[in-house]
Amino acid sequence: MTNINCAENCIHQKNGKCQLTHISIVSEVRDSKCAYFQAREAPGTAGKPK
Ligand code: SF4
Repeated sequence: MTNINCAENCIHQKNGKCQLTHISIVSEVRDSKCAYFQAREAPGTAGKPK
């Protein structure tokens, strides 16, 4: 399980943590977006049924 702190508006981020499990090499997330960044469609719509 990863334990990466992240505050990006990314679909993999939840509660300030990266939930992406296949990252094993990333040790820190800098100001620039990480290689796995995927923007959420829109604020407030994540997790809602379509
Ligand atoms: S994939 Fe990258 S940008 Fe997205 S939550 Fe994880 S560390 Fe942050």
